[in-house]
Amino acid sequence: MMAALFARRTGKSVVILEKMQKLGKKLLITGAGRCNLSNRTLNSSFYKSEARPLVESVFRKFDGATILKYFKELGLHVYADETGRLFPVTKQAASVLKVLELELARVKVSVECGFTVSEINPVGGDRRSGDSDSLYFEVVSSGGLSVRGKAIILCGGGKSYPALGADGNAYGLAKKFGHSTVEPVPSTVPLIVKDPWCHFLQGQKIRAKVRVLEGREVLREADGDLLFTQYGLSGTAILDVSDPVSIALNREKKKEMILEMDLLSFLSEDELRSEIKKRVRRGIPPGDLLEGLLPHKFSTLLAREADVLTGNVSGASLDLLVAQIKRKKFRVLGTRGWNEAEFTAGGIPSFEVTEKLGSKFQRGLAFAGEIVDVQASRGGYQLAWAWASGAVAGSAA
Ligand SMILES: Cc1cc2nc3c(=O)[nH]c(=O)nc-3n(C[C@H](O)[C@H](O)[C@H](O)COP(=O)(O)OP(=O)(O)OC[C@H]3O[C@@H](n4cnc5c(N)ncnc54)[C@H](O)[C@@H]3O)c2cc1C
Repeated sequence: MMAALFARRTGKSVVILEKMQKLGKKLLITGAGRCNLSNRTLNSSFYKSEARPLVESVFRKFDGATILKYFKELGLHVYADETGRLFPVTKQAASVLKVLELELARVKVSVECGFTVSEINPVGGDRRSGDSDSLYFEVVSSGGLSVRGKAIILCGGGKSYPALGADGNAYGLAKKFGHSTVEPVPSTVPLIVKDPWCHFLQGQKIRAKVRVLEGREVLREADGDLLFTQYGLSGTAILDVSDPVSIALNREKKKEMILEMDLLSFLSEDELRSEIKKRVRRGIPPGDLLEGLLPHKFSTLLAREADVLTGNVSGASLDLLVAQIKRKKFRVLGTRGWNEAEFTAGGIPSFEVTEKLGSKFQRGLAFAGEIVDVQASRGGYQLAWAWASGAVAGSAA
């Protein structure tokens, strides 16, 4: 939609070809229906390091302030929450979609829904004779319809939530022109863990610090909600560390990854040890030693695992109790896959596109949005990339 609006500004006639019956199906579920559309701290450091040169050049042309100014022009007002995430004041993703649709209609961008692009064929434009004027593309739908255009901006998205439209088929359309793909894997996704804790604690949510370990190296660390589920672990802390886990398991084919949890990150190990000793001295029953620090179910489980229920809370059992609280390890065996992943890690490599998002292999072809492998953190950065890259690609079309 952004690419179409900005291409239209250059005076061209523009059509959006969308396979679903409506535009913006995924947009409607973003930010749990509230649409976290950007972030006050928007800059390239929130994107994967290999993609930063491209992201920086795009944000130089269309930065966070420009995104907000543009939406304000369309009539959408936004507010920032305490962490800097930006949402529409209506707290409804539908408002974001609506202002975009109103603008598409106002400036007369055509929209063809139910058009699944199955082929893009370049015609004319002989390179050797330097003839670029005669180049055009014939875009064919799976139903046999065809549309011609002088330029194509491929915005087919990633692979997450395939029922909402983007299912990875657009990578195949780019491949024909010589583009490769960094293997797409689910990102920002709950994790499958085999551990009796998950069964016992399912439904329990606490705040915790989570680390992804590879040997002694910490690959990623996050602080946030930790939710125990029947299949494993979810919550914001898990979503935030899920990328390196998913890449290792799904792309690098590792058998398992190790997560380490700190269930009481506001206490050091020494502080926790003296707190427990103090409680023992006060005569608190062993099964209740962690009451007030962790939810009741954790107290019972931890006391049983550290074998302190007999009343012997010293030496090895105290060390074990502290270790289970501060350094509990879980073996991650998989992710919950595309139906539960918010983002896609992978896609068209950023080094295969120009600063204006043009294909380095095919004149007249460009990309925007999640189809490009820029992989960002949670917090509105994905949509910010979609708006900015759409605007830049559209302006250059
Ligand atoms: C549950 C969830 C919550 C999210 N929340 C946030 C959030 O709060 N903030 C944030 O920044 N990001 C969020 N995201 C990520 C964000 O939604 C995406 O990064 C963004 O929508 C990408 O925009 P896009 O236009 O590139 O792709 P999409 O929004 O996926 O749009 C691609 C479109 O292309 C169409 N299409 C695909 N193939 C074809 C074809 N062959 N022919 C015709 N049409 C085709 C699809 O139907 C789709 O409509 C969330 C994602 C999910 C799944």
